[in-house]
Amino acid sequence: MTDKIFDSTTLERALAFARREHNLLIDGQSKPAISGARYDVINPATCERLASVAQAGAEDLELAVKVATEAFNSRWSPLPPNERQRLLWRLSDLIEKNADELAVLETLNNGKPVREARFMDITNAINTLRYCAGWTTKLNGETVSVSHPGSWHSYTVRQPYAVAGLITPWNAPIMMAVAKIAPALAAGCCAILKPAEHTPLTAIRIGEIALEAGIPPGVLNILPGLGTEVGEAIVSHPAIEKISFTGSGCVGQRILATASHSLKRVTVELGGKSANIIMPDADLTKAIPGSAKAIFGNAGQICNAGSRLYVHSSVYDKTVEGIAEFAHSLVVGNGLSPDTQMGPLISRPQLERVCAYIDSGLKDGASLITGGKTLDIGGHFIEPTIIANTRQSMSVVQEEIFGPVLAVQRFDDADDLAGIAELANGTHYGLGAMLWTNDLSKAHKLAARFKAGTVRINGGGLDPALPFGGFKHSGIGRESGREGVEAYTEEKSVMIAL
Ligand code: NAD
Repeated sequence: MTDKIFDSTTLERALAFARREHNLLIDGQSKPAISGARYDVINPATCERLASVAQAGAEDLELAVKVATEAFNSRWSPLPPNERQRLLWRLSDLIEKNADELAVLETLNNGKPVREARFMDITNAINTLRYCAGWTTKLNGETVSVSHPGSWHSYTVRQPYAVAGLITPWNAPIMMAVAKIAPALAAGCCAILKPAEHTPLTAIRIGEIALEAGIPPGVLNILPGLGTEVGEAIVSHPAIEKISFTGSGCVGQRILATASHSLKRVTVELGGKSANIIMPDADLTKAIPGSAKAIFGNAGQICNAGSRLYVHSSVYDKTVEGIAEFAHSLVVGNGLSPDTQMGPLISRPQLERVCAYIDSGLKDGASLITGGKTLDIGGHFIEPTIIANTRQSMSVVQEEIFGPVLAVQRFDDADDLAGIAELANGTHYGLGAMLWTNDLSKAHKLAARFKAGTVRINGGGLDPALPFGGFKHSGIGRESGREGVEAYTEEKSVMIAL
């Protein structure tokens, strides 16, 4: 990409793709829903209709499960691991080749700045595929020394589930889809992916690219549709052995309850309300922009956004002023414009929800430092917002807003590590925690105290090798890392009398 980010041909190709009549992908074929149902997908930056997509139902799922099971038995699980590795690498190469077009398509559908789509989400998807491709040849069991009377050769093996049901949210569509497809296929499972209803387009394109890469038909099936229809059908289908879900806590709880009837294996990656702590000795030249990006990136629609800021009183004014300046300088607009740094929220209900949280914070006695207003520029836009003087009990501190709203508090005693950890751990979430300090000893001590799946000290980001997931209400299980691939396998112990 150049400074222009993309050229007119790339835009035309992405628009031409979006305007196709999109169908379900089952057994490598584009099929309308059996019911004939379709729905419209909206561009959140313009509120205009972007695409028409087939809406899968339970009867489409039935067919997809049948073909995925068949593909598992005849085409995917018999492949030697290095062949699966080659195909996943080929998929990553083709995504790289089409990266600019995919980035534009993601921006049209989700609204995020195209630079963010290209250099964060798509780069991450490519890296995840390559990382998981490496695991195909390394999913080993071990030999085990048993003490059982007699003479034994004992070992463990890891076997993939035949069909995995993958359900993703709208905030990082391509990244979330690949975060599930890559480990599932690497482990040897066949997959049925249900993208979020708002943002199915890049997942549909990935389905096409997977076929082009040579991944056999039926190994990856894409079923756009409603959570309450095809989503629930996936979770309750008896032949789907594994569910991997990323989304909201209430849907996650519902999925766990439904899946418990058939004792399905379930990974749930849920919401967050991550604390970001700035100690008196922090390097503010890094902490200020780092903290601003942690909440305003993707317009705050990030599960582990640094949405609760705790600043030591000695650096409070300078820090809050600095983040407010950063917020003022952000260019908010259509993500296709090369200058845009923050795009729209995904939908009108999401915009209303974010506004309602800001109002509730102010009613509860918090003060507005900057932002707070919607922007009448065509889509679901809101200003980056900072509210200070918040208290732990306020809903803006306790609940996930999923928008560009930073709730700020100050603390006085930088030596009271138990007190700082109590603030950080003081919600029912436990996805992430950030800390800015140059005191190595405090950094390690606090990292040990945080009840969070990911702790970032003086920066950091996503890496496919690092397990990602939540403590407490932020989820069960981990994605990424070895654990993320092993989550698509069942371990078996074998004992042979010698
Ligand atoms: P959501 O829970 O509304 O929907 C997520 C997915 O679940 C969608 O595909 C939806 O169609 C489907 N779904 C809805 N109801 C269902 C049901 N009854 N059965 C099966 N599937 C159903 O979440 P969202 O609004 O799309 O995404 C935002 C949420 O996702 C936030 O809470 C955010 O924190 C969370 N999230 C978490 C992570 C993580 O890794 N922990 C990452 C991204 C987003």
